[in-house]
Amino acid sequence: MSEPGFFPEGARVSVLTAEPIGKPLDYLAPEGGCFPGAFVEVPLGPRRVVGVVWGAGDGRFEAGKLRAVSRVLDVPPMRAELQEFLIRMGSYTMTSLPGVLRLATRTPGLFDPPGARRIYRLGTAVPGKLTEAREKVLAVLRDHGGAGFYLTELAQLAGVTPQVVKGLVKLGAIEEAEQPRDLPLPRLDFTLPGKALSEDQATAAAALKGEGFGVTLLKGVTGSGKTEVYLEAVAECLRRGRQALVLLPEIALTSEFLSRVEARFGARPGEWHSGVTEAERRRLWRMVATGGAQMVVGARSALFLPFQDLGLIVVDEEHDTSYKQEEGALYNARDMAVLRASLAGSQVVLASATPSLESWVNAASGKYRRIDLAARFGASELPEMRSIDMREERIESVHWISPSLVGAVVSTLSRGEQAMLFLNRRGYAPVTLCRACGQQIGCDHCDARMVEHRFLKRLVCHQCGETKPIPTTCPACGVEGKLAPVGPGVERLAEEVAERFPTARVAVLSSDLFGSARALKEAVESIAKGGADIIIGTQIVAKGHNFPLLTLVGVIDADLGLQGSDLRAAERTFQLMRQVAGRAGRAEKPGLALLQTYQPEHPVIRAILGGDEEAFWKAEAEGRKAAGVPPFGRMAGIILSGAEIEPLFAYGNDLAQHDGPLRRIGAQLFGPAPAPIARVRGRHRVRLLIRADKTAPLQQAIRAWLRGVKQPNSVRLAIDIDPQSF
Ligand code: ADP
Ligand code: ZN
Repeated sequence: MSEPGFFPEGARVSVLTAEPIGKPLDYLAPEGGCFPGAFVEVPLGPRRVVGVVWGAGDGRFEAGKLRAVSRVLDVPPMRAELQEFLIRMGSYTMTSLPGVLRLATRTPGLFDPPGARRIYRLGTAVPGKLTEAREKVLAVLRDHGGAGFYLTELAQLAGVTPQVVKGLVKLGAIEEAEQPRDLPLPRLDFTLPGKALSEDQATAAAALKGEGFGVTLLKGVTGSGKTEVYLEAVAECLRRGRQALVLLPEIALTSEFLSRVEARFGARPGEWHSGVTEAERRRLWRMVATGGAQMVVGARSALFLPFQDLGLIVVDEEHDTSYKQEEGALYNARDMAVLRASLAGSQVVLASATPSLESWVNAASGKYRRIDLAARFGASELPEMRSIDMREERIESVHWISPSLVGAVVSTLSRGEQAMLFLNRRGYAPVTLCRACGQQIGCDHCDARMVEHRFLKRLVCHQCGETKPIPTTCPACGVEGKLAPVGPGVERLAEEVAERFPTARVAVLSSDLFGSARALKEAVESIAKGGADIIIGTQIVAKGHNFPLLTLVGVIDADLGLQGSDLRAAERTFQLMRQVAGRAGRAEKPGLALLQTYQPEHPVIRAILGGDEEAFWKAEAEGRKAAGVPPFGRMAGIILSGAEIEPLFAYGNDLAQHDGPLRRIGAQLFGPAPAPIARVRGRHRVRLLIRADKTAPLQQAIRAWLRGVKQPNSVRLAIDIDPQSF
């Protein structure tokens, strides 16, 4: 008799690996046996690979034909709850089991025996003049404080060979150490008192202290104290001895947030995102699994950490589109957070000033609880919002700031306050046009225009990142000197600002202008302290940074997001404009937001300008309901990609002609048509869209449908359940 949930030596077990073979394979349990969930090494062909003991083997094969598990690895086993989460997530997003396992285990070095890897960190010696390559290595280390890196990771980040790192070790500028195993994390002290909460905040905080699974939408304008309130929920979770996870949409926001947690609980929580060194991530992974990490702050991939007892997940800025992973396994971290919480028995807090329509509807129907923080904390009010009707403004050519906005900036600066100009376009000019032949310079590999970046002195494709020098002759007609930038990006706006406000100190905040999260953080801190008079920013300024001196926000082009036929355009524009406007007037100083628009009567613009917000969401919801699209119906995208376009359409048409399984569940199929991004990195993309009723078994039908039509080898297929645009 075996113990329940234990496989004695020689028992059949099925082992899931991250290798692209589809499903778990059968092996024999090794000497000493193994538990379900154990991480093991198994032979696969001539190789040895890491896998997880997924369950009992199915007995289909003779024992004599099975190979044995090579060894059990020295890491905490995967808990049943995480296993169940991966299975459910895989079946919802239609990602293979190896594909989802990869999400949970891709930290390099995770399974190496402790001490097997050396880490490299700043040493004590201060060498004199260094080569450029050596300087780069030290810069990476300085950017990460005292953290240690693996050799290959460090060399790669610095763009040098490992020999350069070794050279610095000889000089003593870098020290080499064994990977410390499970060095304990500092404890968070949840008995420390938080800030004295307002009545509104206290009510909200009390409501968030539920037990077991439940989802709450915490809605409140920027500055209303959402963070303060959900940190109380974190404190309660820690008090119960459970672990808390806070997801943030942007790495750049973490350092400010970590400092806040430190101020609240006396220590920093674990940090999990791509900017954290692999050695640190490996350590945190173990600490999360053994319960040594009380709280983790991270990006969406933190959802796959092996929490021992997850009591709370906060999804901050829950409406943010960056929660959707658009490569590899396609999933929305907000939705998967709710799934994981339902399995782990945790509370979920979705925090936002401008929730997604999905969450708004779920709250309206009573599926989620909703708590509103009505007022801004302290004396400050929501900024006043007004439009500037651009049809009535006299604007010189190649200028984008209207006289009305100039006037408002002047009076703001004269009071010693800060102004922000928002334009959601990186670079200098979005289009480079040949005035001789009318050609616009596009990317050679994508269906996208090249964007001039004057700061980099290059044209950049925002789709694939390809860059090239700014040409002087037109690549189409060969005429020289006729290429001209058309339209504004933030760099060009900065030129106009310099011309109009020559004595103002200007800071441009655009993600591409900062080499590292730390550089951005320093810029933000300096601005917050008054280091700039005018801030020019792209989308990154809309998210959570605090600028206490900022009282005026000018939106250069409020109509930008309203073009196109996407059904989500209104929602996105509303969210972005409200977020940006919310930057103005935090402390005691009242704020003003001015939106430059050519269509001030547009219902979305009117809703943004302080129209009835609930009425806006209601109208949006009714429109979606009438169209039968999310969140009232279900959508899925099938993206076909390949080097040639013909086979994509041939296969797409073949699929469209054999859509019986879809029709049987009452679903409609649209396409094939060029995907919203029709070509990336030289690969063409064609999309089919499926719409089905809310209760239809969509995934099942898609599976049956795809099985019925042979997929050509030259075509790659990706399934996007709940696509961002439709
Ligand atoms: P949100 O997350 O809604 O943007 P925050 O929690 O960041 O709001 O609060 C905005 C600012 O007001 C922060 O600087 C915060 O520390 C401060 N604040 C909020 N509530 C309180 C309070 N009860 N006591 C003192 N300061 C507060
Ligand atoms: Zn490109």
